[in-house]
Amino acid sequence: MAEAMGINTASTKIMVFVYAAVAAAISGWLYAHLQGTVNPSPFSLNAGIEYLFMVVVGGSGFIWGAILGSALLTVMKDQLQGVLPALFGGTGNYEMIVFGILLVALLQWAPDGLWPFVRRWFPKQGGVIAPARATLLSRRDKPKTGTTILEVREVYKRFGGLIAINNLFFSVRAGEIMGLIGPNGAGKSTMFNLVTGVLPVTSGEILFCGQSIGNLASRDIAKLGIARTFQHVRLLPTMTVLENVAIGGHLRGRAGVGRSLVCANRDDEAALLHEAARQLERVGLKDCMYEEAGSLALGQQRILEIARALCCDPVLLLLDEPAAGLRYKEKLALAELLKKLQAEGMTILIVEHDMDFVMNLTDRLVVMEFGIKIAEGLPVEIQQNPAVLEAYLGGADA
Ligand code: ADP
Ligand code: MG
Repeated sequence: MAEAMGINTASTKIMVFVYAAVAAAISGWLYAHLQGTVNPSPFSLNAGIEYLFMVVVGGSGFIWGAILGSALLTVMKDQLQGVLPALFGGTGNYEMIVFGILLVALLQWAPDGLWPFVRRWFPKQGGVIAPARATLLSRRDKPKTGTTILEVREVYKRFGGLIAINNLFFSVRAGEIMGLIGPNGAGKSTMFNLVTGVLPVTSGEILFCGQSIGNLASRDIAKLGIARTFQHVRLLPTMTVLENVAIGGHLRGRAGVGRSLVCANRDDEAALLHEAARQLERVGLKDCMYEEAGSLALGQQRILEIARALCCDPVLLLLDEPAAGLRYKEKLALAELLKKLQAEGMTILIVEHDMDFVMNLTDRLVVMEFGIKIAEGLPVEIQQNPAVLEAYLGGADA
C-alpha cells in the first residue's frame, strides 16, 4: 500500500532504523555523562528484555505508551522488590515472576498495551486540522478530455507455463470510465497488477501519457499520476480517517526527512491534512474524519481508499473490484460517487467481476476470458454479445 502511494519503503525503513539508533546513542551518551562511568550491566540482555517489556506494557506505536510503560515498570519493580521478598521470605528476583504473568496477560487481553485505554480519557487530537497557514498543494496538469492516456499494446504475462495475459490490447481516454470485466480467473487482477507495477510484463508495452510503464516499480508509477485502490482494503485501522487519507498526499509534501525531524514541517503537514479533508468532503466522508479507519463499515472503507487515491492528485484512478462484498445500497452510493468524479474530470479504470455494477456506470467495456480479450464496446453492445454471454453463463454452469 505504501509503495502504491509513492513511498520508498526500503529507504524509509532504513531512515527509521537510523533515527532510532541515533536517539538511542544520544540517550546512552547522556546516561554516561550523568553517571560519570559506563559499565555493561545497564546494557545486558536482561536490561534489553526489560526495555522491550516497557514498550509492550505501554503500547508500541505510541510515544506516550513508551513513557507510561517505563514509568509503570520502574515504579512496580521498585515496589515489588521491597514487598515480595518480605512476603515469601528469602531473597530472589520474585518480581520477574510477576512480570512474566503480567506479560502473558497483557498479550492476551491488551496486545496494543495500556496506552489505548488511557487515551480514551483524553480528547482526541491526532491529526486535527490546524488553521491553514500554508498555500494549497501544487496540482498536476491534466490531459485534455478525449486524449488517450493509457495504452496497453500486445501485452503478455506468463507465470511459468501459464499464459495469464495473452496479447491484450486496449486504451483508456481521459475523462471516461472504462471497465475491464471477465469471469473469475480471466486475468483481470493480473492486468491490474501489470498497470500498477506490482508485476512486470513478460512482453508488450503499457504506455501511460506516452511513457512506457510496463517495468516500472509501483512508486514510480504513482509519481506519474496513477492512483489505485485495493480489492481487499488496506488501511491503517488505528489511525484516523483523515490521517489515512493524508498518506495519499505523500508525494505532494515538500518537507524532507531533515525538516520533519526538527518539526519544521508544520505548514507542510497542515497543507496535507487540509487536502485530505478536502478529498473526504469530495467523497462525502467528512463527518467521520476523526474516527478510527478500522471502525468504518466496508463500504465506507472502500470510499476512504478512493479519497486516499484522490489525495495523490491522479490523472488516472484504478479500482480493483470496488463493489466486491458491498451491499446493494453501498454499491449504489459507490456508483454515484464514481459518476460524480467523472463529471469533475477524473478518468477511471475499473476492474470488476460484477457485470451489473459496471453496466450503468461505464462508458466502455473490455471483456476478458482466459487472458484473451473477447469483446470491447459500449455496455449495451456487450450485454448482447454472444461470446460474452457464453463466457459468463458458461462459467456459471461449469
Ligand atoms: P481474475 O482476477 O480475472 O479472477 P487473475 O488475474 O487473478 O484472474 O488470474 C488469472 C490466471 O493467472 C489464473 O489462472 C491464476 O491462477 C493465474 N495467476 C495469477 N497470479 C498468479 C501468480 N502469481 N502465479 C501463478 N499464476 C497466477
Ligand atoms: Mg481478481
